Amino acid sequence: MLRERIADDIYVFTSRRYAQVTAGAVLTKEGVVLIDTLFYPEETQAIKDFIEKRLGLTICYVIITHYHADHSTGAWMFPGARIVGHARCRDLLNTSGRKGLEQMKAQMPEFQSSRIVLPDMVFHEGTLNIHIGGKTLRLYHFPGHSLDMVGVMVVNDRIFFASDNSMPVPTFFDGNYDGLVKAVRTMIEMDPTNVVQGHGEVILRGEVETILQDDLNYLLKIKEKVEQVIARGEPREAVENITIESCGKSRIPLHGLVADLHLANLRHLYDELKNGADQ
Ligand SMILES: [Zn+2]
Repeated sequence: MLRERIADDIYVFTSRRYAQVTAGAVLTKEGVVLIDTLFYPEETQAIKDFIEKRLGLTICYVIITHYHADHSTGAWMFPGARIVGHARCRDLLNTSGRKGLEQMKAQMPEFQSSRIVLPDMVFHEGTLNIHIGGKTLRLYHFPGHSLDMVGVMVVNDRIFFASDNSMPVPTFFDGNYDGLVKAVRTMIEMDPTNVVQGHGEVILRGEVETILQDDLNYLLKIKEKVEQVIARGEPREAVENITIESCGKSRIPLHGLVADLHLANLRHLYDELKNGADQ
């Protein structure tokens, strides 16, 4: 796990073991807010040890940005904290999340002690503010990458934890294309100083607008190309010919995983557009 201090009192932790997934910690004198956990218990334990043992601070809140296992599975390791998320995240963890964890346990012994912990503080719409130790964390429901997705603005620092609505290739195959386009546009308008992506490197001051605009261009480009496939009456498989490079993104980040994510985007978008057209 890589630990990075991006402000006096804000850390980002990046997994070395799973797709550069990130978690964050906002430190205050009244306690710490954790934003997501990492996938493997060993890495979440390292975050916990750093905050509790090395810094001597208490973790009061764990915000779960969305139900995907690489972000949420470690919540059980913080029994003293309030677990916060969108109402839909609670539902999805309770259904898909439980099933997914059973499968993980069957395949990977290191998850034997893991269990699903549901958020005990949820919101349905609008925003939710957490005020703690002079800091305000504002949670936004941004359905895009997934339908339960929450982004977190640390208001004092204008640092935005975008979770998986921002990745080296933005993805929506478990969510909604229009939702993600809207989320990226809103993030550009919010004009944060830094964006912590759900996977990959932190977007630094001065790069934010360029990178988010690049994500938006990618999303618009794939729609244009998938629409052409549909207009030509070609089958779903034809989207496989649309390369990631032709949509303005590199296939290198996340050890090449982005090419698979791109393909999943294309298939999902084909279905979304096709079903829409059939109605
Ligand atoms: Zn995700």
